[in-house]
Amino acid sequence: MLGRIDPSRKNVTVVGAGISGLLTAYYLDARGYQVTLLEKSSEVGGLIQSHSLPTGLAESAAHSLLATPPVLELCEKLGVELFSVQENSKARFIFRDARMQKLPLKFLEILGAIRRALFARSTGQEITVQDWALKHLGQAPATYLMTPMLRGIYGASPAEISLTAAFPKLQIPAGKTLLGYFVGNFIKARISILRGRSSSRARPRMMTPRGGMHEIVAALETSLQSTLQDRFKKGTEVQDLGTLLNSGTTVILCTPAQVAAQLIMGLDAAGAALARELRQIPYSPMVSVTAHVPTAAFAEAPHGVGVLMPPSTDRKCLGILFNSSSFPQRVNTLDWQSFTLMLGGSQGEKWLAFSDEELSGVVRQELIEVLKMESQAEVKLKIFRWPRAIPLYSAELEKNWQRIEEGLPKGLVLCSNYTGQVSIRGILENLHSRLEPASRS
Ligand SMILES: Cc1cc2nc3c(=O)[nH]c(=O)nc-3n(C[C@H](O)[C@H](O)[C@H](O)COP(=O)(O)OP(=O)(O)OC[C@H]3O[C@@H](n4cnc5c(N)ncnc54)[C@H](O)[C@@H]3O)c2cc1C
Repeated sequence: MLGRIDPSRKNVTVVGAGISGLLTAYYLDARGYQVTLLEKSSEVGGLIQSHSLPTGLAESAAHSLLATPPVLELCEKLGVELFSVQENSKARFIFRDARMQKLPLKFLEILGAIRRALFARSTGQEITVQDWALKHLGQAPATYLMTPMLRGIYGASPAEISLTAAFPKLQIPAGKTLLGYFVGNFIKARISILRGRSSSRARPRMMTPRGGMHEIVAALETSLQSTLQDRFKKGTEVQDLGTLLNSGTTVILCTPAQVAAQLIMGLDAAGAALARELRQIPYSPMVSVTAHVPTAAFAEAPHGVGVLMPPSTDRKCLGILFNSSSFPQRVNTLDWQSFTLMLGGSQGEKWLAFSDEELSGVVRQELIEVLKMESQAEVKLKIFRWPRAIPLYSAELEKNWQRIEEGLPKGLVLCSNYTGQVSIRGILENLHSRLEPASRS
């Protein structure tokens, strides 16, 4: 979140009912604010939509979320049941040497990584995730672990992602080694638990609702409809921010940065400068293709969470999620398997221009070469093209944040996936940490 919600002003207007806007409205309403929620579309959820197809489910964007305590607490309150990755399907793969591997590093590369983790001391100058990975783990883990992982989450390479913007907890103080720092932190946490100062926490798991991510959106919508009533307006596009701000309400823009820029630009000269900052925030494009394939098309259907591709393997997609292997009810019968292939990222704008037919050919080839699908198999596709899918958490973005915070007029707040966290879990936890505790539940 950028900007500050003044607790003495109880009237708040939230613009946009994607997951950021829904969560913002929900938590502020629970804290006694008089919330109005305005959404341009007739549907809520923004990027998050779960489509029911004859063969199974297709998610448009988020497939799952990390179930940390605030996520579990919210879902319990909303009555949304979450399912974790199925017991026999927890394997995650990296594609290297033309095959899927659970551990993509060779023996000497592992030894090299251990040596670096033990002895390489931080200079405190590791700006990008690439700097950090090379310093503390070495070239092979940077190439075969960090790069595929970041391409899978942000659609960007580690050299494009700022350590402090995206992973502030990974930052190691100058003079410390990776192992020294994290072992030290682990011991401190255990001592704190033993002394009763904090409670022991199980490692959070990736989870999803049985009917898809839209269940969370729908439950928030139902809850807000009952509490906000006619202050929850769908099909209402905000075009005039000045009038809203002059009415004395705090305005929280939960829209993509470009929309926020468009709205702020018309305010005054300072607004125009702020709009320029917001326009500079780059987003990676993404094409997400869900493929339903007959189970019979595989000698052995893939088991696991999915496979990520390092760029050096020259594969077309960034990664493939094994939906039906990891979560229940992703397909309507066991005769089908469900996969999602991600194409695009910061270097992959060309995929947006591919026709459905061209994408179909690419997806089929990836399924054949990576997952060993039979070449003549029937493949049913659902394609989602997102020209501005994921904000790039670069070092430049951190500077944008600073300048935006300084330039925001009183009563205006920004909260979306470019203001601190991309994931749903992150957006939710960010809100939690920025708001006072709830006065009612
Ligand atoms: C392909 C893909 C896969 C992903 N996978 C995951 C995942 O597995 N797990 C995870 O945690 N995250 C994932 N994410 C990230 C996550 O889905 C997004 O960060 C999040 O959904 C963004 O939500 P938002 O509310 O900030 O923005 P949006 O979803 O863009 O919502 C903005 C809303 O504002 C509305 N709006 C715009 N202009 C106006 C206006 N003028 N007036 C009123 N309303 C307006 C829009 O209609 C929309 O409803 C993924 C993202 C993508 C693209």
